[in-house]
Amino acid sequence: MAQILVTGGAGFIGSHLVEYLLQQGHEVLSLDNYFTGSKENLRHLLGQPRLELIRHDIVNPIMLEVEQIYHLACPASPVHYQYNPVKTIKTNVMGTLNMLGLAKRVKARILLASTSEVYGDPQVHPQREDYWGNVNPIGPRSCYDEGKRVAETLMTDYHRQNGVDIRIARIFNTYGPRMAVQDGRVISNFIVQALTGQAITIYGDGSQTRSFCYVSDLVKGLVALMDCEGCHEPVNLGNPEEYSILELAEKILALTGSPSRLSFRELPKDDPVKRRPDITRARQLLGWQPSVTLEDGLKATIPYFVHKLRQLHYELAANPD
Ligand code: NAD
Ligand code: UDP
Repeated sequence: MAQILVTGGAGFIGSHLVEYLLQQGHEVLSLDNYFTGSKENLRHLLGQPRLELIRHDIVNPIMLEVEQIYHLACPASPVHYQYNPVKTIKTNVMGTLNMLGLAKRVKARILLASTSEVYGDPQVHPQREDYWGNVNPIGPRSCYDEGKRVAETLMTDYHRQNGVDIRIARIFNTYGPRMAVQDGRVISNFIVQALTGQAITIYGDGSQTRSFCYVSDLVKGLVALMDCEGCHEPVNLGNPEEYSILELAEKILALTGSPSRLSFRELPKDDPVKRRPDITRARQLLGWQPSVTLEDGLKATIPYFVHKLRQLHYELAANPD
């Protein structure tokens, strides 16, 4: 049993990770400022004596005694990370510095939830970890992708300079239950729109691609990376099945039986044209690969949104099975 800190523990991925670590018998501290996360995501775990919740903003230092840190705190949806870009940069830079300072002081192993966004609008496809990326330093996404790039630099320099035991996970688009209804990312938007009969908002012509990883696969990858001895280099974690946004919309319409139509909107600036992970390194180092197909993952996610929308008193137009 280890004492483990999860920053961003009340968020979408963080709450699944907290649940998994508790199941493995660990003591877990969830630290969150509840900007995009919610205690609701952890409600079913609140009676557990091995779980402690801390409300804290990581831009401020904190003194704790832990053996491992999963550092996930950062808004992940473009809508939320662009709401207050300066805060997003602060969270990535000052927040990661604070977590590294903590890791250094208590000699904890620390894993950063980095992102495929470090590859920007990639000119190499699929993306391998040795690709340096194609990132706009002054665009609307920069607060997030440059922020995460600096966070990776900080991690690596604390490792080289101070011997901090680091792990860097480059996470590709991940989805599943506990995404917020208002999250703004594509899978939650499309499912909510399909279920409520609203038009499906396709940005651009929908030919841009993404590769979607189901959250249970991702959590297993994060834990495998944390437990991997000497794995200090970045590791891609994602599902290499690639879909266009139009294909995704059609799949969600079919699975929900929705009457919604498609509505084409302007493509946001710097929206990556394609994205797919090369997961050779994760396969070799961790023996990890995702096992949940997009169809199965969506079938597990749609009922969560049905429940969530009913709780929020939405009229449902679709009749998913
Ligand atoms: P999320 O927005 O659901 O979770 C982020 C959590 O961090 C929230 O609970 C939020 O309240 C908390 N947080 C934000 N700023 C904070 C601060 N300053 N101090 C304390 N807590 C703060 O997002 P998610 O999808 O669960 O993403 C988790 C992590 O994984 C993020 O670091 C994100 O960059 C990374 N990631 C996610 C994806 C994905 O597709 N979901 C892809 C790549 C990387
Ligand atoms: N997207 C879309 N409609 C939406 C939300 C997103 O067409 O309602 C597109 C978006 O332009 C991008 C892709 O879906 O090309 C994935 O967007 P998301 O915000 O989920 O993640 P990211 O762009 O960070 O990969």
